[in-house]
Amino acid sequence: MAKPNKLYSVLFNKCPRCGVGDFFISKNAYNLRNFDKMNKSCPHCGENLVPEPGFYQGALYMSYAFYVAFMVIYFLIFVNFFEQYLDYFLISIIPVLILLTPLFYRLARRSWLALFIKPASNETI
Ligand SMILES: [Zn+2]
Repeated sequence: MAKPNKLYSVLFNKCPRCGVGDFFISKNAYNLRNFDKMNKSCPHCGENLVPEPGFYQGALYMSYAFYVAFMVIYFLIFVNFFEQYLDYFLISIIPVLILLTPLFYRLARRSWLALFIKPASNETI
């Protein structure tokens, strides 16, 4: 097993400390019944994934940053490659953002926690 890596754990739904245990119970962001259910602690290393009540309010700012970054990139793609269809940018941006909500919700929580937890070296797990 390679050394745990923050980017890997954020992108692939893993615990930021060990990179092995799952962060969210469901692997599928579009599973409407439990896309938002988290493990309270890592099933592999036991790291507490909910450090304190209200901890994930900070994830709000992460998801805000993801939405803004996405909109800027989406807009630049339209301006550079599909300028004659710029109306479609305005028509499509709301449904696209709604569809991305579960993805960004999960991404924001994982990256918010990853800011505070250092990946463990192999010897300590
Ligand atoms: Zn873990």
